[in-house]
Amino acid sequence: MTKDEEVINQIYQKQLDAILFSVNQYSDDVTSSWISKIESQQDVLDSLGFEEILHSTSISFIFFVDSVGGEAPKIIADMPLKNTDLSANIDALIREHTPEIDRLKRYKEVGFQKIEPLDARLPNFENLAILLFILDKPLHGKSVCGVVINPEDFIINMLRPKIQTVAENRFLITAFKKENNRIIYTTIDTLSNVQNARAVTNDFWIFPEYYLGISLKGKSIDKIVKERTDFNLFLILTLDMVLILAVWIVFRYVKKEIRLAETKSDFISNVSHEIRTPLSLISMFAETLELGRVTSEEKRNEYYGIISRETGRLSGIVNKILNFSRLEAKKADLHFNKMDLNGAVREVIETYHYHLESNDFDCRFHPEDNLFIEADKEAMIEVIGNLIDNAVKYSGESKRIDITTGTSGSYAFLSVGDYGNGISKKDQKYIFDKFYRVPSGDIAKSKGTGLGLSLVKQIVDKHKGKIDVKSELKKGALFTVYVPSKQ
Ligand code: ADP
Repeated sequence: MTKDEEVINQIYQKQLDAILFSVNQYSDDVTSSWISKIESQQDVLDSLGFEEILHSTSISFIFFVDSVGGEAPKIIADMPLKNTDLSANIDALIREHTPEIDRLKRYKEVGFQKIEPLDARLPNFENLAILLFILDKPLHGKSVCGVVINPEDFIINMLRPKIQTVAENRFLITAFKKENNRIIYTTIDTLSNVQNARAVTNDFWIFPEYYLGISLKGKSIDKIVKERTDFNLFLILTLDMVLILAVWIVFRYVKKEIRLAETKSDFISNVSHEIRTPLSLISMFAETLELGRVTSEEKRNEYYGIISRETGRLSGIVNKILNFSRLEAKKADLHFNKMDLNGAVREVIETYHYHLESNDFDCRFHPEDNLFIEADKEAMIEVIGNLIDNAVKYSGESKRIDITTGTSGSYAFLSVGDYGNGISKKDQKYIFDKFYRVPSGDIAKSKGTGLGLSLVKQIVDKHKGKIDVKSELKKGALFTVYVPSKQ
């Protein structure tokens, strides 16, 4: 609550209190008017004069007493009362409450007419409250008057019009019994709201066993503030969550960028290294040949072979980079045609034949017949070539490669498996990222750009296929490419 709202709330509570005060004031006025009527009676022995007051109010009977143990109390009722011990009971009651009566008398002496609700009940009339006051002038020698009244009847019949008037359409007023919070009367039409109808409460002056509760119709300031607090809290929490999410996204983005920057610089040094080795070999052997120092034909042919192999390696690297950048820039034009997957695999194996054999590789092909896919042949050859190339590079000592083709659902698949270095679970997440090379183990020994698998993945994606890797460190790796099959 803001300071202003607190002030408004206090004013509002005071206003509610004032309304309850006016209802109590009214009850006091009503009872005072009874006193006047009773005092105006001349003959206490005759109940006729009390007829009007007994009929039109909630009063059950009236009694007059004076000193205890003196004359029997005079009881006025509009119908015969069955209880024969009533006089004795009234006597006993008065005896018990002499201090209160003495006090009332003292008040009276100084000119203050006070009505005292007694905190006691008469036997057999337990539901009736007793109000005591001192008469101006004693009636037949009895100056203490007791009005025995049904409080609930009084609230419902005598106070209702007043309560309705003050409640107007703006307040909810309810009378409760204290003992069990039972509702005696309420201006609330739907009972479900009654529990909230106690923003301010006040005892009935003349019936301390009952109390009035009042609240504003519609929303109280407390409720408005609570609603606003709840809404603000919700807003703060949502904003916090959005903020945390944003920080998390930025953090991930920055982390990715940093890794990319690192891998890019690694890429540059890798590529320079990859290019420098064949270049220096080519220049060295070309120079030797140029100077005519090589006399034997056999040696010359060997040098020509080295130059042509290294040139092939160079153009391989350059082609890979060019292909990658074309795919990356989405400029690559793929031409999809029906193609024989096994045929493409055989072509690649043929190209690698010399390389495989000279390195003592045992390369086995396990084809499933009649495997056709809708694909760009050149791109598929690039995929197969990269997978075989990696299997060779990362085979270590094992020197065995298994190539399998087959069908799986609506896909044709090609898998290339080796039994070499393998890839840890952690690294498997990144190997398809561009420029990524596993930064440990035998990397220093093996050459590469970190573009091969990224290129493979881009091509496979363009064929609406998928790629999967199963690997364990030191046990080898199995890469499987799935492409929709075409019959
Ligand atoms: P690179 O030019 O380094 O071979 P790739 O994108 O082809 O780049 O591969 C990324 C990384 O994945 C490699 O650096 C290597 O560590 C790992 N990798 C790829 N294929 C294999 C494999 N068959 N066995 C073990 N590691 C592999």
